Amino acid sequence: MKVLVIGPGGREHAIVRALSADPYVNEVHCAPGNAGIAQDVTTHNIDAQDPQAVLALAKELASELVIVGPEAPLAAGIADALIEAGIPVFGPTKAAAQLEASKAFAKDVMAAAQVPTAMAHVATNSAEAASALDDFGAPYVVKDDGLAAGKGVVVTNDRAEALAHAEVCFAAGGTVVIEEFLDGPEVSLFVICDGKHAVPLAPAQDFKRIFDNDQGPNTGGMGAYSPLEWLPETFVDEVMDRVAYPTLREMEKRGTPFTGVLYCGLAITKRGIRVIEFNARFGDPETQAVLARLKTPLGGILLAAANGTLDDAEQLRWSSKTAVDVVIAAENYPDAPVKGEIIQGLEQANAVPNVHVMHAGTSADADGNIIVSGGRVLAVVALGDDLSSARASAYAGVAKISWPGAQSRSDIALKAERGEILTNEESK
Ligand code: AMP
Repeated sequence: MKVLVIGPGGREHAIVRALSADPYVNEVHCAPGNAGIAQDVTTHNIDAQDPQAVLALAKELASELVIVGPEAPLAAGIADALIEAGIPVFGPTKAAAQLEASKAFAKDVMAAAQVPTAMAHVATNSAEAASALDDFGAPYVVKDDGLAAGKGVVVTNDRAEALAHAEVCFAAGGTVVIEEFLDGPEVSLFVICDGKHAVPLAPAQDFKRIFDNDQGPNTGGMGAYSPLEWLPETFVDEVMDRVAYPTLREMEKRGTPFTGVLYCGLAITKRGIRVIEFNARFGDPETQAVLARLKTPLGGILLAAANGTLDDAEQLRWSSKTAVDVVIAAENYPDAPVKGEIIQGLEQANAVPNVHVMHAGTSADADGNIIVSGGRVLAVVALGDDLSSARASAYAGVAKISWPGAQSRSDIALKAERGEILTNEESK
């Protein structure tokens, strides 16, 4: 099978890596990719947000499956263009991608499908926002309704800051969703869907804040690990029954069946599981950890989803190892990342046993140096027999890599390693 992967990031590098290990996939291409992906497969420098450009490339390459990584091309209708041309695509149509592209739409679907989520008000002006904030009280949760690369959400105890974020969204012509605060550990569950049927991947946890101890602003994600030993055994079944299938049924009922990854961002609260958000694609950096453990060939699962022939009963096979990945970001990320620095130590990091480095915001300069070209630059992924050894290897890899201003968290998966997240008693 010839596969084309769309996207520039660490998630796409992990997908490309998994496909390259798939015996049924003989050709992998990526557009636009990055410097690390270009070392592994052929990359194509097209505008990956432009449906016609992607369609033309897929035709030229005679791609038998196109996998769309990021949210923006999906919201731009890339899947629609490919479906119309009869090319199998893994990723939702523009209409179905609204589950991620509009938080208000997602709330409406969840309400109709009786999916447990935070109570929310949609506000279109300051007065509505202020009254919604006062209804729920602190901590305040204010979300930009549209796509914001994981950075449109402010969670704060400061009412003025919450209101100021709402004002910024209104000034940009948007609406905001103001929510009840959900207390409890967060879990990401990726569910592969073909419109009707669904197969879950292994749960993962990611770390959204830029600094240790979950301080500082939200980012796209600074690290992840999988599996989550502390989860109740019934967790995945419960999410499938109460979240994934009801959502799929509701989307089908609306005439916009959902194909692709239904990414369920969940909080485990004292009152039970609640959906924090849906995304319509693989999460980054959880994908780097999850796919590092997947033993079932990835291409076949995603092709079945694209073709509507997914087998609900399929039990995916997983490595018994634990995977941890630590993101290294550019100086001044997430505000205005400093680009252009030369990255040192990539080979040394890749030489650390059980470690592989996935590239995100990297490119090659005229001299062949790998340089920083985005906010999140690398994800150092490690497998280990347990969380302690996986963490130790990942951080041994991180220690080999340097450039001026590089930043990473030192506490990815640390609470889980110490057993500080949920006791089994609490999670029942
Ligand atoms: P989202 O883009 O909706 O995933 O939000 C980004 C992050 O903000 C989440 O991963 C949570 O850490 C936090 N967050 C969002 N909504 C809530 C909520 N209702 N209660 C508590 N934290 C939230």
